[in-house]
Order: sequence, then C-alpha cells, then structure tokens
Amino acid sequence: NQMSRSSENEIKDSAYKEWQRQSRNQSYGIRSSMTIKEQRESLPVYQKRDALLQLVQQNDFLIVVGETGSGKTTQITQYLAEEGYSTKGVIACTQPRRVAATSVAKRVAQEVGCRVGEEVGYTIRFEDCTSNKTIIKYMTDGMLQREVLVDPDLTKYSVIMLDEAHERTIATDVLFALLREAVIRRKGGLKLIVTSATLDSQKFSKYFENCPVFHIEGRTFPVKIFYTKEPELDYIQSTIETVIDVHTNNPPGDILVFLTGKEEIDTCCETLVEKMSLLRAEKPTVSELIVLPIYSSLPSEMQSRIFEPTPPGKRKVVLATNIAETSVTIDGIYYVIDPGYVKVNAYDPKLGMDTLIVQPISRAQADQRSGRAGRTGPGICYRLYTKNAYLNEMPANTVPEIQRQNLSYTILMLKAMGIDDVLGFNFMDRPKEQLILTALEELYILDALDENGVLTDFGQRMAFFPMEPLLSKTLIQSIEFKCSDEVITIIAMLSVPDVFYRPKEKRDEADRIKAKFHDYNGDHLTLLNVYNKWSDAENQRLWCQNNFVHEKSMRRAREVRRQLLKIFDNLDKRGRHTESSVISCRGNWDLIRKAFVSGYFKNSAKRAATHDPEEGSYRTLVENTPVHIHPSSSLFRKHGVDYVIYHTLVLTNKEYMHCITKIDPKWLVMYAPRFFRTADPSQLSTKKKTEKLQPLFNRNDPKETWRLSKGRR
Ligand code: ADP
Ligand code: MG
Repeated sequence: NQMSRSSENEIKDSAYKEWQRQSRNQSYGIRSSMTIKEQRESLPVYQKRDALLQLVQQNDFLIVVGETGSGKTTQITQYLAEEGYSTKGVIACTQPRRVAATSVAKRVAQEVGCRVGEEVGYTIRFEDCTSNKTIIKYMTDGMLQREVLVDPDLTKYSVIMLDEAHERTIATDVLFALLREAVIRRKGGLKLIVTSATLDSQKFSKYFENCPVFHIEGRTFPVKIFYTKEPELDYIQSTIETVIDVHTNNPPGDILVFLTGKEEIDTCCETLVEKMSLLRAEKPTVSELIVLPIYSSLPSEMQSRIFEPTPPGKRKVVLATNIAETSVTIDGIYYVIDPGYVKVNAYDPKLGMDTLIVQPISRAQADQRSGRAGRTGPGICYRLYTKNAYLNEMPANTVPEIQRQNLSYTILMLKAMGIDDVLGFNFMDRPKEQLILTALEELYILDALDENGVLTDFGQRMAFFPMEPLLSKTLIQSIEFKCSDEVITIIAMLSVPDVFYRPKEKRDEADRIKAKFHDYNGDHLTLLNVYNKWSDAENQRLWCQNNFVHEKSMRRAREVRRQLLKIFDNLDKRGRHTESSVISCRGNWDLIRKAFVSGYFKNSAKRAATHDPEEGSYRTLVENTPVHIHPSSSLFRKHGVDYVIYHTLVLTNKEYMHCITKIDPKWLVMYAPRFFRTADPSQLSTKKKTEKLQPLFNRNDPKETWRLSKGRR
C-alpha cells in the first residue's frame, strides 16, 4: 500500500502529483490525433536524420545510442530506404525477440503504407513474411545468424542494423563477430549499424574498429521513484494491490507492470479483472481499468491491442514480461510497477542443462524499467523492493547470455560455418572456457563432432535445422528409425504453447477429456494422438471447443510441421535423395520413443529405490537429482514406469519433468553408446546390470572429460 512506501522527499509528493496532473492535461491524448507523418516527425531521431545519414555514408560501422522510444527501430530503416540504400540491397534490422520483430514490421508497414510482406516484412523462425518486393526486413537475430551459415558475406543486404544490442543475446553476440568480418570483406558494400539503449557504447566502438558513436537524446521527463520500506514477501499480491491503488488514487495515465512470464501474467490479469469488477460494483464512481497482457507466445492480434490508445475516462494496465523494457514501446505510460524480477534461461550445472530461473534484475534493468514512465510526461515508478536492495543487492549489469547459457547450438553453427577454433573465436566478451568445453562434449556425445572436435556429416545435417541439437538429432535419427513423419508432428506440437486449456470452472471436465488422449507410454505420444485426432476432425473448430484444446496452437503446430517438412525436402535435395525421408512408422510407436531416446538420453530419470528418501519420485541418471512427474503428464501416478526421458525440467516449488515418455533402459546403451554403458557389457540385458547405468563422463571436470572422450570410442 502506497502509504508505507518511502520516497526521496515525501512532503513534495502531493505537489508532484499536481504538477503531473497539469502537464498530463497538456500532452495526454495528443499523439493519437496526429497523422502518421506528424507522429514520425515528432520522434527525437527525426531531428538527427541528416547527421545520421551522413555518418552512415562515411563509415562502415556505426554505433547509435538512444533512449527507448526515440524512433531508432521504426525510423532508421525507413531513412535508409528513402536515401536509396535499398537499391543496393535489402535493409535488415534484427531484434532479439520474435514479438518485437513482428510488431515493429507491422507498424513500419503501416507508416510506409503497404501490407506486411510487401516492401516491409519480417522473418522469424518457422515464419517468413517477406517477398521479392521486400526492402526493409525485420528479423530475429537468430534468423540472421542462420543466413550467415548459407551466405557468409550476406550479399543480399546493403545495411544491417543490429538492434537492441544491449540485450546481449547469444545470437547478437555471435553476429557481432561474424558481421564484423563480413563488412570488412565487402569493402564498403555492406554497412553495419549497432544500436543500443544503454551506454556501454565505448566498448562497442572499440570492438568495431573505433567507429563513431551517435547519440540521440531522448525526450524524457522526470520519474519519481518509490521503494518499499520492507522487502515484499509476495510480489504478485503486492503488484495487484499497487495497480488498484494507483488506479483509484492517481490522475489519468496508463500503467505498465513487469512480471516474469506467461503464467504469472495470466493469473495476475484474471485476479485484477475479478477484483476490479467487485470494486466497481461497490463503488460505481471508480472508472474502468482495461487489463492487457503482453508476452511472446501471445497471439499477435492480442499483442497489438496494447498499442491501441486508451479511450478517454478509462485507464489501461499492461502486464508485460521484460519485453517491454526496451524492445516494444507503449505510449501513454505514466506509471511503472516493478517487482524486480526476471526469468532467464541459464545453464544449471547441477542438472547439466538449461533451465528457466527467476532472478532479481540488474540495476541497469531497473533504470530501464522506471524510464518507461517518463516518456510522455512526468511519471512515477513503484519499485516493489527496498532502496537497499537496489543499491546493494542488485548487480550493476546483466551478465550477457553467452556467458551463462548452454552454447551447443551456437558452437554447432560456428563449426558448420567452418570456424573450427571455437576457443579462439573473436567474441566481444569471451564465454568461460568451461562453457565451451561443455558444449563440445555435448556435441560429441550427440555424434555431431568426432573425437577431434571436427564436425561430422551427421553434425552437418544437424546444423541444417534451426533448432537445439537435441531436437535436430532426434529429427535426423527418426529417419533411421523410419518414423520421421510422426516425430515431425510431435516436435511441431512441442514447439507451440501448451495446447490444452483448463478453464477455472471446468477443470475436472477438461482433465477428464484430456485423459482420453493419454497414451500409456507417455506425453510425446499423447501429443501425437491429439494432433492426429484434430487433423482428422471434420469441423476442427468445434473439435477444439469440445476437447478443451486451443485452436490457435494447433494451427500454429500445423504451420511448424509444414516448415519442418520443407527443411526435410531441402535436406533430401541437398543429399540428392530421390525418395522422401519423411516416413511413417504406421503405428509402430516404439520406434518413435527410440528416436527420442537417441536425442534426449541425457534427460533421463529413473524411479527412486524403495529405501530412498525420494521414494515415489525419480532421480536423474546424470546427476542423481530428485525430479518429479508433473501432474499434467499422462504418466502421473502410473505404475510400472521405471525409466523415463523428459523434454524439459521446470523449477517451481519442486523440480518437475515436463513431457515425459517411458523408455526401456537398454535403449540408452544402444542408442547413446558414447554416453551410457553398463558395468558389465556382457550382461547387458539383466535388470540388475542396467540399474548400474552410468554416464561416461566426469561432469565435474569437463576438460578432463573432453580429453578422456578423445581416447575412447
Ligand atoms: P526505439 O527503437 O528508439 O525504442 P521505436 O522506433 O520502436 O523506438 O518507437 C518509436 C515510436 O513508434 C514509439 O514511441 C511508438 O509511438 C511508435 N510505435 C512503435 N511500435 C509501434 C506499434 N507496434 N504500434 C503503434 N506504435 C508504435
Ligand atoms: Mg527499438
């Protein structure tokens, strides 16, 4: 509650609100009535248009630094096109996030006056919305990285803008080095602009041949910051209270809330809507609060709703992931609520794999977040943590992804590009040697590298797929196992948001219907069941309604399936195969499970022994970590499930395995001989011996491991 918050100068609080109220009346609602031309010309970058273009002309490398919302992403590409760069090649702009790439492309198409996919388009994984007309192309950094694989000089482009460089995603970091080389090789034919919202520009400049740094001063207003006096125990509840508090007590202006992920955002939205309707029933004078979520798996029509201007007399609250920190800008935000957490993907040595973890944000992120409140007028940011936490507990900057995530996909790509010495690669911030070695080890046990670390033919084929090595290995192995048709479907289903929904009032019914699709061997096959039944249904919409299945997700799965089939087709053409490698196993579903074992063998667990304190749950074979079957799994509380593989681990109050399939432990030895062996190979088949399955590698010392593995075959 607001009363208990401390602020820099408490006494002036009411005066501040009055000032805020006055300046609000002057600026609120103006932008929505401006024409597109007026809007474009009101952006800070417009004042700098000519100076910027001159620098681009004179330099091959340029760093651009500017506040979020100053017009970098939407305007610079258009300026370049207007200046004629598009006649020499496509103008590309990368984004770390899919949502940003699609939403910005839509906006720019609107500004240019074309449809998306014509002059302005976008490319994200499994979705290419460009044509031969396209001159401005927004894309994820991951997709540009894949294009380098095919065309290292990027000959079809004239200018590439690496946007949001401060995010320091792995793909952007790798592109730094790859594009630096390409620009030098093309001798003026390709220009690189690196844009960032923060000021580590000197480091960027130094890396790119001491190139100039161009500043765009943002149009920002002061933001008053409140902290809590005590640490918050439940930040969700405190977030909801703060939203309602702001809505009922503060002058007009929209609210932006930063949460960590989809589930949290959906729950918060539901609770807010409920609380607001109770409150408005009680007090009809309270105005309407429009509650809107934004996260990357949200369908795009829902995403664009956050950009619609708020009708007069109402207030909008947007609940966002850290996507709203810098990559999308929402106008009219005067209040920011920042609980101080973010969900990141990090390599967990205890589990030997990537997991999503929720962790405190950095001070730089906290400042970015509060800055969102001061774009249209003086704003307020409520930080749901103490000033002491901000000053003394938060790290100053976020650690770049490349220094904390699993690098096997990246290393596979580099190897496929012919870059053999990955330890000597010119990274701007070098990852720890250990992380690279771990990735090499993983690629070795997946057969992508040979014992000398050289890319195998198999690895070459794996690099053909724009997906994690575990998935690409499974896909390629499924050809050997003659079940690729089914595996493609399952992987398409795994790549879309959860297809099942459980409305609050009908949970039991939804669960009962879902159970009809359950396969006794596990969730991968359950997904296949669902897809097949949906695909056969006469009226797919009705089928979805009756079965509590999201139609959008199903259609997306079908699209991903189509894209995967296309990749298979290309792979066949490249290998000059005349017969398609898409093969159905015709109901022999054991083959499917074997294909998944050949990719996911490291994600294996076995039922805990009877005397084990973890009895009733499972332990991973790699690290012996206790893990549990998620209640949504078709294997939940099923008997006779001794060995399983899982798709992901999710940490909530316990370590939960998601998407689990029952396996025969013998398969581990058969299909992952580089990783598993039995204590005595001559007695492979006896249960007693297979209980002694052991990973070959000493995980505590990957360097030792890597050396060891060289000598072993
Ligand atoms: P920057 O990249 O410097 O953060 P942008 O170019 O993304 O800035 O945004 C400039 C302005 O364009 C924003 O202030 C906003 O008004 C408008 N804008 C951007 N994306 C959209 C969108 N999808 N819908 C409506 N307006 C948008
Ligand atoms: Mg931007």
